[in-house]
Amino acid sequence: MLTKAVMDRLNRALVGASAGMIKILAKFHLPKGQVMWQIWSSMSDRRNPSIYQVVFDPSTNVPGERWTCTCQDFAKHGHQTPCKHVLLAQLEHQQRVEA
Ligand SMILES: [Zn+2]
Repeated sequence: MLTKAVMDRLNRALVGASAGMIKILAKFHLPKGQVMWQIWSSMSDRRNPSIYQVVFDPSTNVPGERWTCTCQDFAKHGHQTPCKHVLLAQLEHQQRVEA
């Protein structure tokens, strides 16, 4: 469900991506079906950009544990609301449908 907290983070992810302040650097497919994204962000500190790692693990049966991120927002709130990195990776992970 798209709660206000999710919408706020989605908005930040999209605004940040449009402004070039958050970028997907790389995407890896791991042997057990996991997918890993490296996400570069200068949103929290312009002078010291950080690289976060988002992992999608479809093998876990716990829905709240399928997506994880190494950022502080995820550590604090990830059990309730995905962080903007996870949301960006989820958008990237969608199959694009050709019109
Ligand atoms: Zn994150």
